[in-house]
Amino acid sequence: MSNDLQVVAAEAATCVRCGLAETRTQVVFGVGDPHADLLFVGEGPGAEEDRLGQPFVGRSGKLLDQLVLEEMGLTREDFYIANVVKCRPPENRDPRPQEIEACRPWLEQQLALIAPRVVVTVGNFAARTLLGTKDGITKLRGRSYPFGSAVLVPTFHPAAVLRGGAQPMAQMRADLVRAKQALGEPPATPVAEAVPESARPEPPRPEPAPDVRLFD
Ligand code: URA
Repeated sequence: MSNDLQVVAAEAATCVRCGLAETRTQVVFGVGDPHADLLFVGEGPGAEEDRLGQPFVGRSGKLLDQLVLEEMGLTREDFYIANVVKCRPPENRDPRPQEIEACRPWLEQQLALIAPRVVVTVGNFAARTLLGTKDGITKLRGRSYPFGSAVLVPTFHPAAVLRGGAQPMAQMRADLVRAKQALGEPPATPVAEAVPESARPEPPRPEPAPDVRLFD
């Protein structure tokens, strides 16, 4: 971790901004290259992550690592990975809106200090939080979004892919290829300085999605 990120991680380690502080074993701040061009943002730590203090070290993480290696040729040293909430929600329940809001400053500091060129959001909560939408991941995925001077690529959560089978797996692979392509492109112009919305070409629409609630 770079110095600045280490300082923020040390502050976060004692965070009591929400009730998750009472049930966590430890804060799972994030790991990886602090100067990475690529940042993955997941939902929140599960039991394994809470125990080991690192994001995505359980079954979901193993699938994510495998797909990222196969589709992007990258390993954990090549990117940074963190979550929307840094403490485990008990019984792996969804993080609550007030928990996400309480934790948002940590994520914002990670984004500012790492300054990635490509952000891949993993699952509903990360996409909704960073894009500021209530839309679900099935609707959001399949394209990339301007995100400050970066590009945001939403994809499914690997836990949903583990439950969902071949189609979401293929779609997640396609999203990772999209992220790899975005990494190969020159840095984006910050959105505020870019052409006005009305003058931008229509983004491509995502392909039709499976009608299952798992991927709302
Ligand atoms: N799921 C997440 O969203 N994050 C983790 O760190 C582990 C599982």
